[in-house]
Amino acid sequence: MPFSANYHAHTWRCQHAEGDAVDYARVAAAGGCRVLGISDHVPMPDGRWAEFRMRMDQLDGYEAAVAAAQAAEPGLQVLLGMECELVPEFTGFYRDELLGRRGYDYLIGACHGTYLDGRWISSFERLGTPRALRAYADYAVRTLASGLFAFFAHPDIIGGSHADWNADTAACAADICAASAALRVPLEMNSYGFRKPFIDGAAGPRATYPWKPFWEVAAAHRVQVVLNSDAHRPQDVLAGYDELAAWRDELGLVEADLSALERGVRKSGSPEVRKSTA
Ligand SMILES: [Zn+2]
Ligand SMILES: [Zn+2]
Repeated sequence: MPFSANYHAHTWRCQHAEGDAVDYARVAAAGGCRVLGISDHVPMPDGRWAEFRMRMDQLDGYEAAVAAAQAAEPGLQVLLGMECELVPEFTGFYRDELLGRRGYDYLIGACHGTYLDGRWISSFERLGTPRALRAYADYAVRTLASGLFAFFAHPDIIGGSHADWNADTAACAADICAASAALRVPLEMNSYGFRKPFIDGAAGPRATYPWKPFWEVAAAHRVQVVLNSDAHRPQDVLAGYDELAAWRDELGLVEADLSALERGVRKSGSPEVRKSTA
């Protein structure tokens, strides 16, 4: 079974993905998907972290590409999103420019990097110490509490820094899951990790993420979840649903209702005029 909704897909603009919004929309529509959110890595107003994101001067073209994808696949709801790191000096850019003036449908929060001892380290590979995990958990909680994001991406990427679950990873997961539940910001089960190199754990090779023990903690906290493919190639736009859904069902996790992000559903249910696709 494929995704009926997937809120996480990238485009060539981030420099580590292939294809444009229309290519993802075609595959999604052909696979019977109902809602596709395009959510490329947000450009930074000061040009930081430029190697894996678009430039500010590509924003207009990105939005036009998402509108063109919607025009090409009218039977699919194509949403305009961005995947964003919380940067205090740019919350105005996210809120007033992207969600405000430019009318983005939603933003995803993500902590790809963690600030520790005066520098940014990779959250995918460098969270091997209790202090680094603590810094990541604190940053994730601030991201959840910002009020900017529809959900929080791949909270369990800590699995790339740890061969096995331990008291520190459990504490990190508990902090993130408690905040998610209290703030009612869902956590994302992200199938991209199934398509990345595996790590050797005690029970054999496993994906660095999604990491099952994290989701056991999430279930205990009654966290709501969002299942996404995080596609970086059009052919992956509906990949990995069955694996995620099996864990969801086994653990009794409940999916969040994100239908309010869809055009025509927001604003107390009153129909909204769709953005021009011209
Ligand atoms: Zn990416
Ligand atoms: Zn991400």
